[in-house]
Amino acid sequence: MDKHRQSISDKLLKPEHHDPYLRPWHQRSDTLCPQCGAAYQAGRWTWHDLVDASNAEEATCPACQRIAENVPAGTVSLRGAFVKQHADELCGLVRNTEELEKSEHPLERLIAISDSADGLDVTTTGLHLAQRIGHALEAAYDGELQIHYNHEEYYVDIHWQRD
Ligand SMILES: [Zn+2]
Repeated sequence: MDKHRQSISDKLLKPEHHDPYLRPWHQRSDTLCPQCGAAYQAGRWTWHDLVDASNAEEATCPACQRIAENVPAGTVSLRGAFVKQHADELCGLVRNTEELEKSEHPLERLIAISDSADGLDVTTTGLHLAQRIGHALEAAYDGELQIHYNHEEYYVDIHWQRD
């Protein structure tokens, strides 16, 4: 990969520059979230132990904050007759996708999976998880996938339909 492409992919991989919930965290000292155990260290949230936990502050991480305030960064709407018939299976895929994403990225989590009159509604704390769920649904079950970003608001709205 050349330098230019590297810097583009770095930008894509660093959405925290736009996430209002992450903005206050720039340049903070080491912090541990007492609710989920995620650690903020050297400008990043990870599941790793802090090098020096004795000096760490405690504060709620952006993901726990979004969950508590129910402010999703992503929504995935699953629609169509297929969704009603395979709700359990689809919930399983959504949860497995969260496990994979969350294990590497502590701020990418599910907020809720809820039944609606016409399908299932999934909310997430991060853009990447919502996007990954959309692609996982399409890869596993075809259907029709639509992704709408709102970069200004740091929000992604995903619609997946299979009749
Ligand atoms: Zn937390």
